Amino acid sequence: YPSENIRNFSIIAHVDHGKSTLADRLLELTGTIRKGHGQPQYLDKLQVERERGITVKAQTATMFHRHNLHGTDTEFLINLVDTPGHVDFSYEVSRSLAACQGVLLVVDAAQGVQAQTVANFYLAFEANLSVIPVINKIDQPTADPDRVIEQLKSMFDLDPKEALLTSAKTGQGLEQVLPAVIERIPPPPGKSSSPLRMLLLDSYYDEYKGVICHVAVVDGALRKGEKISSAATGQSYDVLDVGIMHPELIQTGVLLTGQVGYVVSGMRSTKEARVGDTLYQYRSVVDPLPGFKPVKHMVFSGVYPADGSDFEALNIAIEKLTCNDASVSVAKESSTALGLGFRCGFLGLLHMDVFHQRLEQASHVISTVPTVPYIFEYSDGSKVHIQNPAMLPSNPKQRVTACWEPTVIATIIIPSEYVGAIITLCSERRGEQLEYSFIDSQRAFMKYRLPLREIVVDFYNELKSITSGYASFDYEEADYQASDLVKLDILLNGQPVDAMATIVHRLKAQRVGRELVEKLKKFIDRQMFEIIIQAAIGSKIIARETLSAMRKNVLAKCYGGDITRKKKLLEKQKEGKKRMKRVGSVDIPQEAFHELLKVS
Ligand code: GDP
Ligand code: MG
Repeated sequence: YPSENIRNFSIIAHVDHGKSTLADRLLELTGTIRKGHGQPQYLDKLQVERERGITVKAQTATMFHRHNLHGTDTEFLINLVDTPGHVDFSYEVSRSLAACQGVLLVVDAAQGVQAQTVANFYLAFEANLSVIPVINKIDQPTADPDRVIEQLKSMFDLDPKEALLTSAKTGQGLEQVLPAVIERIPPPPGKSSSPLRMLLLDSYYDEYKGVICHVAVVDGALRKGEKISSAATGQSYDVLDVGIMHPELIQTGVLLTGQVGYVVSGMRSTKEARVGDTLYQYRSVVDPLPGFKPVKHMVFSGVYPADGSDFEALNIAIEKLTCNDASVSVAKESSTALGLGFRCGFLGLLHMDVFHQRLEQASHVISTVPTVPYIFEYSDGSKVHIQNPAMLPSNPKQRVTACWEPTVIATIIIPSEYVGAIITLCSERRGEQLEYSFIDSQRAFMKYRLPLREIVVDFYNELKSITSGYASFDYEEADYQASDLVKLDILLNGQPVDAMATIVHRLKAQRVGRELVEKLKKFIDRQMFEIIIQAAIGSKIIARETLSAMRKNVLAKCYGGDITRKKKLLEKQKEGKKRMKRVGSVDIPQEAFHELLKVS
């Protein structure tokens, strides 16, 4: 396949607008996968993705399609890169786009342009890609393609004549999609006569083959048996296997200019496969490709073994998971309350959730309240990056002279009747309005600068609930801003529990402290002794609750006699205990840690 017969494209869309379904239909249409293969959404590979209906990792598939272009019937090799739909993974979206020359911008015909449509459009636009608008779900009774065409024109200046109308469900209009890809998206621009340069897009670990790298060959060609080097690490490798994702791995022995495929090269760990790295012919001299922005971790949380599981098991489980998700950062840490564990950094809340969910399938864990990365400055001029509130002394010997917190620019699109509710929510969350306009007669477009901390804690759920699910939301990271922050400690019977400390804005400290203490009272079971739960800033107690002791005879009375019932109860208690963590002398269930998450 000469590169003029190759097309690389991606599908971008707001979540649920039909990207994965459309991808599946195109794979069926080209015979790449069988129709009705029984597994909806072929490209959503991972189990959590299936369960939650989201695409976390971009998947690539190669298909073949005959098309008559300029009077010649030609077979084209078309690479489709599926992209994640959720805001946390915009980093993965821009990565996928680096291997493409064009995109299908899929928009739901009834919902119209949503926040991620805007964000994704700009990612493609900034990367100079051809954009083909696809208005999908035209089979729905509430579909209004004309209105969507109008929005695309007014917001992105897209030509109404260029829009394709499809239903990935009924198949209507799908026959126009691949011809449009072939005719409107340019072939990859690389030079086949130049020395090999390829971009490392992604990597994962396969039990049988070892590290598998997804690559885009920009210039030259890659052949099995050759030797390649990494621009990032300087390491060299023998090319053991080369091929395409069809979507199963198919050995081809060679990847030509413009192709996207996989390579196995005897790397021992995915840590050697730096995403965004340039791989080139051993000993040749090339300029590395631009690469990607480094991963930015927005949220950090501690992960500790729950009672009944050990650190080593957790270590192994984390090692295994990060092998296939290099975007999680992991560092050992220790907590007085919870012992030895890890501090993990994530791209966002969903990313964190997905990771925790996978981790729990392998190991019993306690995860601590997530925190965003703050910067604190002390009176001696030193600045520290705080990724764990416990790292901040409660009574610093040196005075804190300034602190900064990360902010985001949020885009919110809502039916106009919800504008008031959004303004209230965003001001409660310390937001600053940057823009407020209308994208058509019924929909408002709002831009806010918000502290990252305020959207990390339950913002999305709140947003959805006050707008009956109609709001769409996306955010991009922005600068740090100066802020008046304090450390809030939680004390159980006078002992600070380091794993429960949080950093909050001074004006919110009182309310947050109150709520945390009330939540804990609800979720910690009564024990044989009294428990005093307190919230404090430095040495000042700002909230207090008392959990009275369990009366001893209660147990004896209700469990007396019936031995099988007693056994059952004990069994049940043991079950519940798995997720307990003993802090000092107090047993704290996992849910208590989890509930702290929801206080903002
Ligand atoms: P993604 O999040 O963009 O990947 O969206 P999915 O492909 O997972 O689709 C979201 C939902 O919309 C699924 O329930 C699909 O079955 C449904 N869907 C996708 N395309 C169409 C369509 O053309 N018409 C209708 N009525 N439903 C569709
Ligand atoms: Mg999807």
